[in-house]
Amino acid sequence: MPAASLEVSDLTAGYGPTRILENVSLSVEAGRRVAVLGRNGVGKSTLFATIAGQTRRYGGRIAIGNEDITELPGSGRALKGLGYVPQTRAIFKSLTVEENLQVGLKDRPHSAIQEAYEMFPRLHERRRNLGSQLSGGEQQMLTTARSILGQPSVLLLDEPLEGLAPVICDELMAAFSALAATGAMTILMIEQRIQAALNFAQDVFILERGEIAWSGTPAQ
Ligand code: ATP
Ligand code: MG
Repeated sequence: MPAASLEVSDLTAGYGPTRILENVSLSVEAGRRVAVLGRNGVGKSTLFATIAGQTRRYGGRIAIGNEDITELPGSGRALKGLGYVPQTRAIFKSLTVEENLQVGLKDRPHSAIQEAYEMFPRLHERRRNLGSQLSGGEQQMLTTARSILGQPSVLLLDEPLEGLAPVICDELMAAFSALAATGAMTILMIEQRIQAALNFAQDVFILERGEIAWSGTPAQ
């Protein structure tokens, strides 16, 4: 699947009876690199989780390309090309790096995993290590590599640089930029490291108290 557009309109969502997002709309063209910024607790993660179908939605619509995915469960959205790497990193601690990459990919050729290794050489070096033996940065690379193996057309990354050393941040950002340059993916990234996010992004959205307060280009 090539990169696809993402259209979010009038999204209102939250957890149980608590509304966190109020009428959030955003429009992203296919193949764009997007940063979503905002202070702690304004609802950034809730926005991505809602697009991924993991919160309670009260209203609004979500579409990928020409597909309306609003009524689909999270698994159905993944099949329509949505990739999501949540802020909390989920890896199988008792499996090796390579086994983690193979989970759920029975039908995919081994070449896909080789491509992931090319993007993340550090994972190739650690491929026989258990998940429990990885550093935070390596765990982050592993969850990201795994989401890329699913070849999503829209990829949501929630704070991919959180807690990482600067040298690893540079490695990861280079990998994301290379990925976006192939035109295979639209990438939206929530990031607290403003400079890294602005270097990466073509479009910027700023969230405040559950609403889009500003959108524009990094230069602006
Ligand atoms: P941060 O920058 O700290 O990651 P954020 O902008 O991603 O913050 P969210 O995680 O979306 O913010 O949280 C927005 C609000 O929703 C917060 O008030 C938070 O307490 C609340 N919240 C988040 N997750 C849940 C949940 N699972 N159940 C109930 N409330 C939640
Ligand atoms: Mg968050």
